Amino acid sequence: MNLDPQNPAQGIMLDQEFDNAKFYTVSCSCGNPNDQIKLEIEVEDGVITTHVWTKVKTDRWRQTWPIMDRDYGSWLYYIKYLINAVTSRIRVIWSVLTRGYVEMESWTILNEQQSVNFAWALHNAVKELQAHRQTQEVLTKTKK
Ligand SMILES: [Zn+2]
Repeated sequence: MNLDPQNPAQGIMLDQEFDNAKFYTVSCSCGNPNDQIKLEIEVEDGVITTHVWTKVKTDRWRQTWPIMDRDYGSWLYYIKYLINAVTSRIRVIWSVLTRGYVEMESWTILNEQQSVNFAWALHNAVKELQAHRQTQEVLTKTKK
């Protein structure tokens, strides 16, 4: 198994690149765009930070009335689907009403190669921003 980072890298897409920031999209290995991670690595006022965005979801897949294999293609499937969709939303509303919040979660699955690429992308972005920060510091000192 190759553990070297790739270029172009599987699962890591460079969306935007500026002197002081880099933006990436990290894909889930399942291919669902709802599972992807958005990353921004930036340097501002000499401080390098990584920002991570994910789309969190309720447990809407939980089935009050389980859909069985034999249900597919029959009218019962649509009835069960509708009941599950409605009860899922009622659970969310009930949670907000009684507790004031909703529990949500998010996960993104990276395969072995994507994991290496992910680490490498972060490592490289920080290194490049450190170089940019150093250039800015030198420019600031020469102005004084
Ligand atoms: Zn996924």
